[in-house]
Amino acid sequence: MLMAEVLVTGGAGFIGSHLCERLIQEGYQVICLDNFSTGKLQNINHLFQSKLFKLYPHDVIRQTSLRAKYYFNLACPASPVHYQTDPVRTIQTSVYGTDNILKQALEADGVVIQASTSEIYGDPLEHPQTEDYWGNVNPIGLRSCYNEGKRLAEALCFAYQRQYGVNIKVVRIFNTYGPRMNENDGRVIPNFFLQAIRNDDITIYGDGQQTRSFCFISDLVAGLIKTMHARDDFTGPVNLGNPYEITILELAEKIIKITHSHSKITFKQLPQDDPKVRCPNIDKARKELVWNPQISLDDGLEETWLYYKKIFNK
Ligand code: NAD
Ligand code: UDP
Repeated sequence: MLMAEVLVTGGAGFIGSHLCERLIQEGYQVICLDNFSTGKLQNINHLFQSKLFKLYPHDVIRQTSLRAKYYFNLACPASPVHYQTDPVRTIQTSVYGTDNILKQALEADGVVIQASTSEIYGDPLEHPQTEDYWGNVNPIGLRSCYNEGKRLAEALCFAYQRQYGVNIKVVRIFNTYGPRMNENDGRVIPNFFLQAIRNDDITIYGDGQQTRSFCFISDLVAGLIKTMHARDDFTGPVNLGNPYEITILELAEKIIKITHSHSKITFKQLPQDDPKVRCPNIDKARKELVWNPQISLDDGLEETWLYYKKIFNK
């Protein structure tokens, strides 16, 4: 049986690889479990230099026996393009995968930190979103494989906590970006950078007046680590995100400016159930975790641009 201090499912993905890196820097023994469906070996190659890092190629849908003190459950496609490609698998990953991790934590007396999402608020009727808002979700829409899957995963966490006393901590992650976000991921920031680099049209879905609030990866990882160290009875849910809100049109203009691109903006059809607004209220994280994002959108986009420039030799 493999044993570690920390197991990170989805550890070869964008957020997971940064989290593994930070945990190793802090001296934790880490096992990264991943099936490489959207994750990449390049994201974690540098971590093999450390004796503290092990890779366990595995699908979280299938049971396994892994003992750890902390279980970060991040395995799940996060880009709408990816999670809608195989919606049945997306639901199975959230539901069976989370169930498997909770079972293991129950056996090992471990702590589960569940990566939930702002998507559980759906197309919100309350703005900004606080943790006690129940959301406005279409249960049968194209996004439901992801948002309903994640809602059921939250319900499972709280059921295991109430019924078996499993120590759970649910974090609702808002849009996060930064280096290592796959350029073909389909989410808005990598899409706009890729289009800008190629001087292709920047594709805005809808009229661009929908809003998002973007958190830089180092801030998010700091929030995840603070959650790991939160007191035993802190279950969450807690919002982790940057409350600086921007329209998608403003984001496109910013990226054109940073990249000095000749791209023009074009408008395409808005996908079904695309949330019109999204912004976290982070009072709970500020108070309970003493966490506050530090990196401005301008600084974070500059750092992300340096990364994409490097991989495209620009
Ligand atoms: P990502 O696609 O880069 O990473 C997901 C990782 O999970 C990948 O390495 C993938 O290979 C792995 N994975 C997927 N299905 C799996 C399975 N069945 N078994 C094992 N591994 C599997 O996405 P990300 O942005 O790093 O997101 C990580 C987590 O954070 C996800 O749970 C996502 O829902 C959550 N989240 C992310 C954001 C964001 O803005 N990045 C926002 C909200 C929530
Ligand atoms: N979006 C866009 N053009 C793109 C990709 C996304 O206008 O090329 C929009 C999308 O419709 C949404 C927002 O940008 O309103 C954020 O999309 P993303 O896929 O990054 O994540 P979401 O927050 O929707 O899960």
